[in-house]
Amino acid sequence: MKKTVAFISHADCGRHDTGWGHPEHVGRLRAIPRALRNDVALYESLDHLEGRHADADEIALAHDAAYIAGVRALAARGGGSLDADTVESAGSWDAATAGAGCVLDGVDLALAGETVRSFSAVRPPGHHALRGSAMGFCLFGNVAIAAHYARAVKQLDRVLILDWDVHHGNGTQALVEHDPNIRFVSMHQWPWYPGTGAADDRGPKHSVWNVPLPPALPRERYVGEFLGAVDRATSGFTPDLVIISAGFDSLAGDPLGGFTMELDDVTRLTREMVSRAEQWCGGRVVSALEGGYAPDRLGEAAVTHMRALL
Ligand SMILES: [Zn+2]
Repeated sequence: MKKTVAFISHADCGRHDTGWGHPEHVGRLRAIPRALRNDVALYESLDHLEGRHADADEIALAHDAAYIAGVRALAARGGGSLDADTVESAGSWDAATAGAGCVLDGVDLALAGETVRSFSAVRPPGHHALRGSAMGFCLFGNVAIAAHYARAVKQLDRVLILDWDVHHGNGTQALVEHDPNIRFVSMHQWPWYPGTGAADDRGPKHSVWNVPLPPALPRERYVGEFLGAVDRATSGFTPDLVIISAGFDSLAGDPLGGFTMELDDVTRLTREMVSRAEQWCGGRVVSALEGGYAPDRLGEAAVTHMRALL
């Protein structure tokens, strides 16, 4: 049977050891295959793949070489602290390069034609990482690297990045906002960490659509505001590839966010993006995990998301 959706992961993503007291711990990833085992039909419908490691040249599509070398060297020394809430362990270089590589494999697959959609269950997450520094649990901007890879290596004309994590994708914005052919939509809680992402921050090329919203709104408001921003971002811009920063900390009950979305909203948003991608670009959707800090909830949300990608 032809499989259109891949579930991409890499065992090395579990080697980024932040400690169980850290919200971004390895149990988050383990919750996804655990939840997936409860849906045998979905499990059998997916193409299960182990991604590759991105190499330093690929990561340099979005990051400074000196920073990349520093991340590698710190892991080689056994790890340490990068900022107040971002740490490395001995396995963090392998984890972070695997995380980016899984998403690059998602791009390769989408462009090869058959498995046009994928979800990469990766950590550390990526959307806060800056060009020359780690930030907010993130080492490398997995999604931004993938967008530049799609443009520079795969020669795509236009890429759309959608970020529904409860936090502003400040790193992604910083890493892509100078290329007007990469458009970025981020919906996030406001005011909230990291404090960026005002609605009037459109980036230097006006290629950014920020949707800051208060917590505790009726859940359909988040879906409606997000879809409205996607419509504005794609007016006169037909993407060749859609990349999703799938943060599930926008679901009700997340310890690091106050949005109220439910699993049905994950289904709705995912289906809307798939149906638009069908019209734009043969249904190509490359999705990557960002936040989500209630592990069981994260597992259910990822499974719901993959079901809707099918
Ligand atoms: Zn987040």
